[in-house]
Amino acid sequence: MRIGVLALQGASEAHQRMLLGMGVAAPAVRRAEDLEGLDGLVLPGGESSTLLHFLAQDDFLPAVAGFVARRPCLGTCAGLILLARQVLPAQASLGLLDVTVRRNAYGRQRESHICHDNGSSWGDAALEMVFIRAPRIERCGPAVEILARRGQEPVLVRQGHLLGCAFHPELGRDTRVHQLLVDACRDGAVQGLDEAS
Ligand code: GLN
Repeated sequence: MRIGVLALQGASEAHQRMLLGMGVAAPAVRRAEDLEGLDGLVLPGGESSTLLHFLAQDDFLPAVAGFVARRPCLGTCAGLILLARQVLPAQASLGLLDVTVRRNAYGRQRESHICHDNGSSWGDAALEMVFIRAPRIERCGPAVEILARRGQEPVLVRQGHLLGCAFHPELGRDTRVHQLLVDACRDGAVQGLDEAS
């Protein structure tokens, strides 16, 4: 299995290390050609406006959009913002995951923190969640499953083959969020947008 990690800016290396530790090849993706032959993709955290700026070069954005429309993808933090249908304050996005997100809603860089999910869906071991200038998921469409919450607020969601995560699962040792992506790739969860929405 090969899961690419978008490596234009931001937290790509920690995702690569985590996937490699799980026995999954995790090549860096920097150009459209790098998407060839991948089973899935991680859109990492970073700065979504900067990621958009780099994606706009060399027709890379349509290539990533085409890939993500068909193959499993995990978007974390800025990556979730890229996947979202609506971004507040308004910003361009791929628009594939039917959520509305508000950028920087959990505070500034110096207010970065670790907390745990509310324990309803992850059994005995709560999910450790690292929040760094994270987006808040303010609306979920009807096809969106909520997989983890912080208090009442959704912080990990899934719509068909797309996973969106407000926090940074790559910065801890808990592999369960990445495992969801690996499972989607293993199941060959290839869906058209019509099926996913
Ligand atoms: N605040 C960033 C943005 O709006 C996301 C932060 C992150 O990815 N840790 O893109």
